[in-house]
Amino acid sequence: MPFRVNLRLLDEDEEALQLEGDVPVEEYGTDLVDPLMRFAEPLHYKLTVDKQPDGILLQGTLTAGLVCECARCLKSFKLEIKIDSFAALAPLTGEGALVQEEDFGDLTPFLREDIYLALPTNPLCKPECRGLARKASTRDSRLEAAAGEGPTPWAALDQLKL
Ligand SMILES: [Zn+2]
Repeated sequence: MPFRVNLRLLDEDEEALQLEGDVPVEEYGTDLVDPLMRFAEPLHYKLTVDKQPDGILLQGTLTAGLVCECARCLKSFKLEIKIDSFAALAPLTGEGALVQEEDFGDLTPFLREDIYLALPTNPLCKPECRGLARKASTRDSRLEAAAGEGPTPWAALDQLKL
């Protein structure tokens, strides 16, 4: 099920609604075309939903889970995207307005957008991943030898200090 709210209920109720639930991958994640990343878990939302004069205000937390391949070492790993202070306004009219069907408005696109924006451009199994090539010891020694011949990063730093 997409994330839909009963707009009439929001109209009648002056209190904001507290909503928590999951949007399955097929409802939010299938547009991700990336050879290194795919959504593997439902998009979980925990939100305050409040009707404002100019739209529906959503505030809360979003989490989504992906299976990725590291861009450097090709290892498969899980990545969790978490947005702690998510906030979006779903306009009721005009451009980009909430899609309404009878009493229900579909809020899924407003959650999706921020999750997609939070995706890494290059997924890495860990920030300091050095990739496959340098793991081989023969390669390591060659790199060290090469580094000894030319100026080292430390030399460059020394020059900066002068
Ligand atoms: Zn890696």
